[in-house]
Amino acid sequence: MSDPNELTVLNPATEETVAVVPAASEEDVAAAVVRSVRAQRAWAALAPADRARLLRRFADAVDAHTEELARLEVREAGHTLGNARWEAGNARDLLLYAAGGAERLLGSQIPAPGGWDVTFREPLGVVGVIAPWNFPMPIAAWGSFPALAAGNTVVLKPAEATPLTALRLAGLALEAGLPEGVLQVLPGYGTTAGRALVDHPDVAKIVFTGSTSTGREVMERCARQVKPVTLELGGKSPSVVFADADLTAALDPFSFLDNAGQDCCARTRILVQESVLEEARALLADALAAVVVGDPADEKTQMGPLISARQRERVRSCVPDDAPALRGSAPDGPGFWFPPTVLTGERPDSRAAREEIFGPVAVLLPFTDEQDAVRLANDTPYGLSGSIWTRDVGRALRVSQAVRAGNLSVNSHSSVRYWTPFGGFKQSGLGRELGPDALAAFTETKNVFISTEGPAL
Ligand code: NDP
Repeated sequence: MSDPNELTVLNPATEETVAVVPAASEEDVAAAVVRSVRAQRAWAALAPADRARLLRRFADAVDAHTEELARLEVREAGHTLGNARWEAGNARDLLLYAAGGAERLLGSQIPAPGGWDVTFREPLGVVGVIAPWNFPMPIAAWGSFPALAAGNTVVLKPAEATPLTALRLAGLALEAGLPEGVLQVLPGYGTTAGRALVDHPDVAKIVFTGSTSTGREVMERCARQVKPVTLELGGKSPSVVFADADLTAALDPFSFLDNAGQDCCARTRILVQESVLEEARALLADALAAVVVGDPADEKTQMGPLISARQRERVRSCVPDDAPALRGSAPDGPGFWFPPTVLTGERPDSRAAREEIFGPVAVLLPFTDEQDAVRLANDTPYGLSGSIWTRDVGRALRVSQAVRAGNLSVNSHSSVRYWTPFGGFKQSGLGRELGPDALAAFTETKNVFISTEGPAL
């Protein structure tokens, strides 16, 4: 039973304690919201260029501490060093991108008889961000930085397993000159601090990333106050591989092994045209055997551990020991290890083929033709990402129009760029983060009509 007053952060590769951090109570959340409300008035009143300048200084501070942040992410989340460096760089780049948005928060002028009609984009106030443990730094950044740029203040609750990089980011914000109370990080438990943030009447919006079941609860609680919410939830994304594709690139196992599969965009349903199924199976077997799983702080490591014993149990429960599968290897001993796995005997309606496993596990499923591929790709309550692999341009376009998901890539497994919109269809979420419109999600549009009635000219 965990202590309600503190969080113990474990290194997932060694199971050693990295830090013990006080856990925020409901009263702590209420006090943080009071500070946030106070700070927001002055923050929103700053000239856009001054707000942008402070965010750029914050980006410089993140840049100067990239290696420190990356090493912290390796220790608290078990991410490979290469990934963790990318994550710190992503936080920096998003700050720079969002800072420019502060200076371009444009309204419109709409023709109206008898006067001028103009719109303003006003900040919402205090934004509550609830982040998960799978990408602690980037997801904290995606929810928070555009909100700050638009003139809101932020109270961020990181996941109980991974509060350290978020705390360090908040420290760097202060060092860079952001005023006290503008970005507060409150480590705590979801069922206490998380719920208190969602329920607080002075929190104007919630940005939540995590499981679909918790997201549903967050949305229900927000509905009681008609509070806007952005939800980035689960996924079970397909990789649709046609026979004419570059099979080696299409079957890159890092399409689902990146971050040990703890990635909402992981391509965990590998759909392969049946005429190349055997070839695909052989390529995947070789690729899995070659994956280097081990100490995430070692530059050569390609895949680290899962986040926790609990997560490993969840993954194990979806992968019976005797299930037909292609398997790589994983270390023995301390650490929450699980080998790269492709299940080869699943049916499209089996549990492993339908549920988000959130581990290094994919299912291999055959399809017959384009129509069958689209049917299978869409046969899921989720709709976050997906890849389409073919050399036929017309087919690539048809299939990308037919697959119901927010982030598709053709002949690529990429999903996330800070300058393009990110979010899900169906039960993968609500709203979009990142991209050119990221700031708009943190504003209310106000329309003002100014009468010009007077003596006729
Ligand atoms: P959750 O969705 O429960 O947690 C995400 C965040 O929400 C954490 O900060 C958590 O706090 C907080 N939280 C939990 N309960 C509440 C609540 N009632 N009100 C407000 N906030 C709350 O995910 P889990 O960590 O339990 O992971 C379970 C599964 O969710 C994974 O196996 C995976 O399938 C999926 N998941 C998906 C993610 C994605 O990016 N799509 C990210 C993470 C998980 P705390 O850490 O204290 O629980």
